[in-house]
Order: sequence, then C-alpha cells, then structure tokens
Amino acid sequence: MTATPAYGATAPDSGVNPLTIERRELRGEDVAIDIAFCGVCHSDLHAARNDWGRTNYPFVPGHEIVGTVSAVGSGVTRFKVGDRVAVGTTIDSCRKCDACADGEENYCREGSTGTYNGKDRIDGSPTFGGYSKAIVVAEPFVLRVPDGLDMAAAAPLLCAGITTYSPLKNWNVGPGTRVGVIGLGGLGHMGVKFAKALGAEVTMITTSPEKGAGAVRLGADHVLVSTDKAAMRAASRSFDFLLDTVPVKHDVTPYLFLLDRKGTLCIVGMIELMEPFHSGLLLQGQKAVSGSGVGGIAQTQEMLDLCAAKGIGAEIEVIPMDQINHAFERMEQADVRYRFVIDMETL
Ligand code: NAP
Ligand code: ZN
Ligand code: ZN
Repeated sequence: MTATPAYGATAPDSGVNPLTIERRELRGEDVAIDIAFCGVCHSDLHAARNDWGRTNYPFVPGHEIVGTVSAVGSGVTRFKVGDRVAVGTTIDSCRKCDACADGEENYCREGSTGTYNGKDRIDGSPTFGGYSKAIVVAEPFVLRVPDGLDMAAAAPLLCAGITTYSPLKNWNVGPGTRVGVIGLGGLGHMGVKFAKALGAEVTMITTSPEKGAGAVRLGADHVLVSTDKAAMRAASRSFDFLLDTVPVKHDVTPYLFLLDRKGTLCIVGMIELMEPFHSGLLLQGQKAVSGSGVGGIAQTQEMLDLCAAKGIGAEIEVIPMDQINHAFERMEQADVRYRFVIDMETL
C-alpha cells in the first residue's frame, strides 16, 4: 500500500479537507497514474454532502482525472510509463454481462464500480476519487489522452464530456436535429459544443440571461431564457431533443411544451423523485422522457479522439486544491464558466 495525499469529506457537513489515503500495490493488469488535473463535477458536491443518501465516509471526490502513467503491472500491454492517460467515473465492472459486452460498462448488470464511493471488486476496499496525487486503475478502464489535447482542458471530458456526448450520439443527433441544452454549467457547455460539432441546430436554455453571450461563443445558434414566459411560449413545439442538465429537483412541464412531435427530453442532471407532470404531454405527439448516465469506455475514447481531431476542449478555470470548498460554493450558485479544474501540483 502507498500512502497518498488527498482531499476528502469526513461527514456531510465537513467540507473537503486534507487527508491521506492508501493506494493498492499493482496487480498484473493495473496502471498507476500520477494525477495532473482533476475536474470538479457537480456530482462531487452532491456526493460529498450525501445528497443521494449513499455516501460512505471518508469520501474522496473526483472522477475527471488526467495524468501520466508512473508504473504498470506485469500484464499491461497498452500503456507504458510516461503515457498521458485519463480516468472517468467507472473503474471496473463485471466485464461479462450483455451491457459490458456491448461496451456499456456504465450500465453493467452487476453495477459498475465507481471511481469514488465504490467498492473494489477483488478486495472490497473503498474506492477513492481523483482529488489526490495518484490513483491505481485496471488497464481496461484507463483512457488514452490523444496528442494535441491540453491536459487541463481534457479533464472535464471524462464526465461532463461523455455524459453529454453519449446521449447526443445515442439519440442520433445530427444535421437537422433541433437540440436544446438546458443549464449552462459543466455538462451544459459541453452539450452545446458536442451538439454543434455533430451538426445540430443548438439552443442554450438557461435561467441566467447574462450567460447568453457566452453560450453563443460556445456555438449556440439561439439562447432561450427559461424564466421568460413569452419566449418559452413562442418556442413551443420547436425542439426534437432536449438535454436536461439541471442539478436540482425541478418541474419538467415547461420543457415538455418545447418538444415537437416524437421529441425526447433526456434527463442527465437531477437524481430525484420528479414533480408530477401530465401524461397528455407525452401522448400528444409521441414524446418521451428519458435519462442517460455517463457512457461506456469505448465511447469515451471515441469522444476523446473526436475532441482531439476537432479541437474541442472544456472551458475551464484552474484552481489550487485548497480552493475547492470555495469552488463548490460558486458551483452551487451557478457561478462557473464552465468547469473548475484542480491543479494537483498544488496538493
Ligand atoms: P453545474 O456545472 O453546476 O451546472 C448546472 C447548471 O444548471 C447551472 O450552471 C445552471 O445553469 C443550471 N441550474 C442550476 N440550478 C438550476 C435551477 N434551480 N433551475 C434551472 N437551472 C438550474 O453542474 P454539472 O456539473 O453540469 O452537473 C449537472 C448535474 O448533472 C448534477 O446534478 C450532476 O450530479 C449531474 N451529473 C449526471 C451525470 C450522469 O451520468 N447523468 C454525470 C455527471 C453529472 P443556468 O445558469 O444556465 O441556468
Ligand atoms: Zn461527474
Ligand atoms: Zn457487466
């Protein structure tokens, strides 16, 4: 075991503070990674505070990890010391069910192993995330960071990136698709970039009118302020696909009015009991409410390679490790343009 500096929470109200964790000795298939940067996902905040009621403490957040390989186990074939690599939200799965066989380890029948707040499938030890100096991950769950991608700007791709790319691809968004991205934060800004890169007509749907200019700069064709009732009415039935990244409980009814015939609202944000909504809104025009959770390893690599080829990266604000609690506060107030990334040199 290797004692490793980290930042984590010890209770729902503790905030995130320095602590030391143990990283395991390398198994044959393991890759040891020195972490260079780690993105700050809203899920880190939800989990640190136990918003979902299943956080085990001590809890070390962070599942947008980039770094370099520092050592490899005896059976590793695809990586060598010094390679630029990344780790997202999933570090293991059963590797044999139909979902895993389909490359959807994120939907493993046995439940995938989370990068944090999970349990190692071999020794049962708790998994700790990327707010730390180093991590050990089995080779099949390690991604390659292509040349040409900036390491810091690549970090958010590992969760915010794949969580928005995956549904856009899986619902066949492309030229001619009218896409609305709801919520301009970490996920939302990547959603706008990917929807645009796939050729769609993109509208940023925001509660913050002052974010409009930024949304256009990210590639949005239109901006719709969701608190503007007249604008929302005027936009009714004008979308094929809505990507809902809102992190808190909210009524989806106003958004369902925006869907055109056969349109889908895909929830990737809140994990909550939903407010009731009228089923007539779905029956009338064959509409759907759906959801999506991150994405599989192969699709994540596809997304990273596309980002390198098209020059797509996250818009980030790099922070030192000891600013994390302040960053959480700002994220909660929707005051982030558009992703905090921790420089692990500062830990
Ligand atoms: P974020 O950076 O904090 O962005 C969320 C944005 O949503 C805010 O910037 C704000 O944008 C909007 N918003 C906030 N409160 C709102 C409210 N009450 N009503 C309407 N809009 C509101 O968060 P994130 O990191 O993108 O994460 C978003 C959510 O996705 C979180 O709940 C996170 O846990 C979840 N998540 C899910 C997956 C998955 O696999 N499905 C993966 C990662 C994260 P405007 O100012 O533009 O309105
Ligand atoms: Zn995340
Ligand atoms: Zn499986």
